[in-house]
This record gives sequence, structure tokens and C-alpha cells, in this order.
Amino acid sequence: MRATRFFISTQKEAPSDAEIVSHQLMMRAGMIKRLGSGIYTYMPIGLRVIRKVEAIIREEMNKAGAIELLMPLVQPAELWQETGRWDKMGPELMRVKDRHGREYAIQPTSEEVITDVVRGEIKSYRQLPLNFYHIQTKFRDERRPRFGLMRGREFTMKDAYSFDRDLAGMQASYKVMFDAYSAIFTRFGLRFRAVAADNGAIGGTGSHEFHVIASTGEDALVYCPTSDFAANMEAAEAMPLAAARAPAGAALAKTATPGTTKCEQVAALLGLELSRTVKTIALTVEKEVDGKQVKENWMLLLRGDHELNEVKVAKVPGLATHRFATEAEILECYGTVPGYLGPIGTRAPVTVVADRTVANMADFVCGANDKDFHYTGANWGRDIAEPLVADLRNVVEGDASPDGKGVLAIERGIEVGHVFQLGTAYSAAMKATFLDENGKPAPLQMGCYGIGVTRILGAAIEQNFDDKGIIWPGAIAPFEVVLCPMNYDKIEMVRAETERMYGALQAAGVDVIVDDRGLRPGAMFADWELIGVPHRVVIGERGLKEGNLEYQGRRDTEATAVTPAAIVEFLQ
Ligand code: ATP
Ligand code: MG
Ligand code: MG
Ligand code: MG
Repeated sequence: MRATRFFISTQKEAPSDAEIVSHQLMMRAGMIKRLGSGIYTYMPIGLRVIRKVEAIIREEMNKAGAIELLMPLVQPAELWQETGRWDKMGPELMRVKDRHGREYAIQPTSEEVITDVVRGEIKSYRQLPLNFYHIQTKFRDERRPRFGLMRGREFTMKDAYSFDRDLAGMQASYKVMFDAYSAIFTRFGLRFRAVAADNGAIGGTGSHEFHVIASTGEDALVYCPTSDFAANMEAAEAMPLAAARAPAGAALAKTATPGTTKCEQVAALLGLELSRTVKTIALTVEKEVDGKQVKENWMLLLRGDHELNEVKVAKVPGLATHRFATEAEILECYGTVPGYLGPIGTRAPVTVVADRTVANMADFVCGANDKDFHYTGANWGRDIAEPLVADLRNVVEGDASPDGKGVLAIERGIEVGHVFQLGTAYSAAMKATFLDENGKPAPLQMGCYGIGVTRILGAAIEQNFDDKGIIWPGAIAPFEVVLCPMNYDKIEMVRAETERMYGALQAAGVDVIVDDRGLRPGAMFADWELIGVPHRVVIGERGLKEGNLEYQGRRDTEATAVTPAAIVEFLQ
């Protein structure tokens, strides 16, 4: 590639809405252009990175036996109604109507469509196992789109769906995908960690998230450096407490039983029944809509997400973090339960402002500010707030690992991939069956596997940058090498060597760009450091007379004089 035939548009300043470094650097490097909230044009440099990410994913998915297809963006509502997700997904699901008034979803994921494909195609166990994937645009009407490609509304995801005849087969398919994901993230050249995750609204039996490690990540990851234990905070909190971590606060101490979760203890205190996933308490909320009393199923997601003087109301992406000076102030100002109250299955934040009567429980009132919710039950001061605030702590550094093999450490991560064992949740709802060896129909065992293709760009930058700009790992850099000739137009010797190097590197299969724009060295170097090309070769007259070029790696502090032959050998 030649810079004069490519499109480079770098900026000195990032727009003011770019809050985090990856968003700022992507805007400054001219990788993306904002069209609307959470909607971006992928500019040529950004698209090159996306294509490299996709190519690695494709190769590893194909190697793992998955088969590529492409499902539509616009999907009929009827399919989503079959699984109940048309209602369950809430406002995050983007809905459109055609000219006949028929309703459609713009896909946020594709379980329904792939299950529909498979139920029409698969007749017999002999056709199994199968794993289909596509790399496709997704739309999620996120409540708070932000951080550029990190939490967009329109974004690209690789999603794969496995189909097996039984549980053991599904678990084997899951393992194959887990290993493929490990291979993919290793090839990206990013530090990552796979953690046990909660299945959340999707249901099913097992799940892991893949996180790129970055201090700016939204999620806390809990792991044990001396064993294999690793879980996201949500999952770690839902695990039984080691005896050593039985809550110390007065009220909970009375009911605390080692081997139960914090949620279970709180539920016991409140006299509530816990729903299937222990971290949630199911509630029925009665409210008035247009003068009519309606019932809604809600969940109180109890989270011990506060430490020291900080309370995060819930680790639900998009909810703000509250800072308080003291715990007493928390109670005084908000009386906030460190938890999350929202409709089951959606994880949407609380947005409706209304008095709610909660069956079997005292009243919850959502404040006008959707970040707050207040408990106005009779014994709030006494029985609930105090022990909750005192005892619902996060899992903290130094806690005993649940596997008993050491103590826990915590680091932050960005969720870039997620694998789920779905079981028969979708196939049963959609009657996707096959005939087993005995000729009997049985529901397909499914798994689903996502990678946030465009989010990876943001995550890679959050992990790899300095004050000059982005530092791409070689495998996903927009270009691997930039040739920077000094006076390309004026000095024949420089021009000739530049062309020769360009040809030699291309022949060696290196993704190289020549900066033939005729810029001053300072401006030229600043551009490529901002864009984050891993290797730079400067071609100047003085060096050439000594038989050398100047090589500088993006992380190097100085350039080194190297012969052209050595550079080609090193870079290929
Ligand atoms: P998050 O917790 O960040 O909202 P999610 O758990 O809702 O993500 P999944 O349904 O697991 O996302 O989707 C698979 C992958 O798609 C995620 O691991 C993430 O990498 C990516 N992804 C999800 N939402 C977005 C988004 N709004 N913008 C970019 N990538 C996203
Ligand atoms: Mg989400
Ligand atoms: Mg998530
Ligand atoms: Mg997820």
C-alpha cells in the first residue's frame, strides 16, 4: 500500500465525548467516524484491523470444524415470539415494521434463526454434531452506548451455534469452542483470561467469558494465581462462601451459614424464596399502567458490589457508580440496597418511575433517578439496610479461593467473548428435534459462542497504548511495517531503495505501507506512532551511504541501524 493511494486522516485532538483512551485514539487515528449514538463508519484504517480480526477468527473457527453461513440482519418477529424473547428482550431489541405492518427484529444475536434453519434441515442423529457460525452486524439498542466501538449499538459479532445429540456431545462441542477461543485470543497477541460466568437470562448449564485484561475494563475478574480458579465477580459472588468469609455483621452473622451464598443468607433474612439462579430473588411487581393494575415479574439481583467508600448500585453495564464518604451517608441519602431491581430476563436498568407493590414483601419504590431505588419497608433501618451494607461485600483480594488452593486476586477485564451451554432451552421452545438411534424424536442440545469483533479493537488499545498513540500487536495491526523515506521525491537513491524494500517486503508476505506523502519526518512519525504500526523503517541518504536503514519497533525508545537484508529477514 502507498499512503498517497490510501486514506489517512489523523487528528491532534479527540472529540470531547470520547471518555476513554481507546475511543480517543481511534478517533484521532481516523479509524472510525461517528454517525449517531453508538453508530460508526469504519474508516479504511479501522476496517483493515477489523478484517484481520475476522480472518483470524475465521481460520480458527474453520479449523475447529465450524461451518460458515450468513443469517439475515432483519428477522421476523414470529421467530422471536416462539422463544418468548420478543417480549423478554425489552427495549434493547430493535424492532421495525415493514409496509404491511409486519414486525421484525434487527438481530442482536441469532439463536432463533439458526434453530429455525436447523429444525428444517436436521432429521437424524447421523447428521450431528454441527456447528454453524457467521460474522454479522448486530444491533442492540444499548441504554448507554459509549466508549466508541466498545459499547456500540451497531457492532460486528462472530456468533456460532452448536447442535448435538446429547449432553456429553454438547459439552464436547463447548470444549472445542473454548479451545478455539483460547487459540484466537492468543493469536491476536492480547493478554486475556477465560472466567466462569453466570448464564444470566439465557439459561442453560455453563458459561465462560473471555476477557482482555485492561485496568480500565468494566468487569472485575476474580482468580487464584496458584490454581485454575477464575470467575467474573458476578459468578464469584454467587458461589458459596468459604467458612473464613462468613459475613461478620450482626444480623447476618446470626443466620450466616458457611457453605451458603451471601444472597441465600440475605434471602433467609428477608424471608424470601430464591429463584433458580441463587443471585436473584424473584418478585412480582404490581403497578398501574393506564389506570389498570398489571403484574410484572421482576428480579432483585443482590450484589455486594461495594467496597470502602464506593457503592456501585449494580454491576450492570451502563449504571453509574455512586461515591459516598461513609456507609452512614449511603443509608441517609439513599438507603440503597446494593442490588439491582429490574424486569426478569432483560437486565435493563430501572427506568420506570412509579410506586410498586411487591408481593410478599414490603414496598420498593423506584426513585425518580433511575440509578436509585429505595426500600421503604417497615423494618428498613433495622433489619435490612444495616446488615446488607455491612455484609454484602464483594469478593475481595486475599479471600480463600473456593477450590481451597490458594487466595484470590482481582484484576479488571473487557468482555470480548462469551461461550454458553444452552442445552435444550431454544430447541425445546422451537420444537427443533432429530430422530435418535431408536427412531425417537429428541430435542437438539445447543451451545452458543460469541466474539465481539469490533469491541476487540477497543480492548486491544486499552491494553496497548502510550502517550504517542496505539501500539498494535502485529497480528491485528492495520499495517505491520511502515517505510518512511526521507525526501522520497528528491533523492533518487532513497526512492530506489524504498521501492526495492517495498517489493522485497511484499514478496516476503509482509503487510507494508510506504509513506510517500512527502511529509516532514516529525509529522510522518507522529502519524504512524498514533496509528500504532508496530515496525518503522526509515530510509535516508546518510544511512544508505553506510549501507544501513533505521529500524524502530513501536515500543523501542531508539532506532537501530540495520542492513536492508537483515530487516527483511527480521520482519518476514
Ligand atoms: P456486555 O456484558 O458487555 O453488555 P453481553 O454479555 O451483553 O456484553 P453477549 O450477549 O455475551 O454480550 O455477546 C457476545 C459478545 O458481543 C460480548 O462478549 C461482547 O464482546 C460483544 N458485545 C456485546 N454487546 C456489545 C456492544 N454493545 N458493542 C460491542 N460489542 C458488544
Ligand atoms: Mg449486554
Ligand atoms: Mg456481559
Ligand atoms: Mg456476555
